[in-house]
Amino acid sequence: MTCKRSREIDIDCFDAGQLVCQTCDRLISVLDTSPFSSWIDKEVDRKRDLQASGQLKTRIQTNLQDDQEIDRDGLHAEIAACLVLCPHRLLDWQNAATSNQNNRGGDLPSDWTGLSKPIEIKFTRYFSSKLGYLLVRPPSGQGKAMKPDFIDDAYYLLLTRQQGMMQVLGWIDRTEFLARKKIDPVGRSAAQVECWGVLWRDLIGLSRLERSRCTNFLKLDTELGR
Ligand SMILES: [Zn+2]
Repeated sequence: MTCKRSREIDIDCFDAGQLVCQTCDRLISVLDTSPFSSWIDKEVDRKRDLQASGQLKTRIQTNLQDDQEIDRDGLHAEIAACLVLCPHRLLDWQNAATSNQNNRGGDLPSDWTGLSKPIEIKFTRYFSSKLGYLLVRPPSGQGKAMKPDFIDDAYYLLLTRQQGMMQVLGWIDRTEFLARKKIDPVGRSAAQVECWGVLWRDLIGLSRLERSRCTNFLKLDTELGR
């Protein structure tokens, strides 16, 4: 649901506040993050080296190749969300991403976005009528079973990639996640941890996300060709 307009943006020129289309008054929901690809690739390589030297734990249920793809997708999704919700904090986000600190439950803190809850960003590679889940797994070292305690008091945002662009599919808070979740919605092998998930169609639309007090209105002038 967009007005199908676009433009290039200069990321250095934003104040505090969300990126909103001046024409339709909606949050920007589709972004091209490819200008950040070389920064992201370097970051993924750096993490791979840390994992290889044992300084960073690899995920249990995947191999290194998958880990790198997951890291790459996740960073593109986080940059897109950061640009929509707190574009003036992009440098802070990049610094946090390179610090190796665990920011589970709060990829974008409240004091960056001006919202009442932190933002936790999730990505799905799969997006169709029946696929595209916002998935939450137990934190590492916390066993295989999911618990309500592992769902943070945050706004969970789900993104996917469509025609090379990052697209926000929707969001959900803790209460609604627990009410709408399915258990192991994408199946689970014996070796994998339990997983709870909400299908993208059961998420809440971006138009119903809390709006920040300040706004960066964007005049979108280029009609998107299809
Ligand atoms: Zn618009």
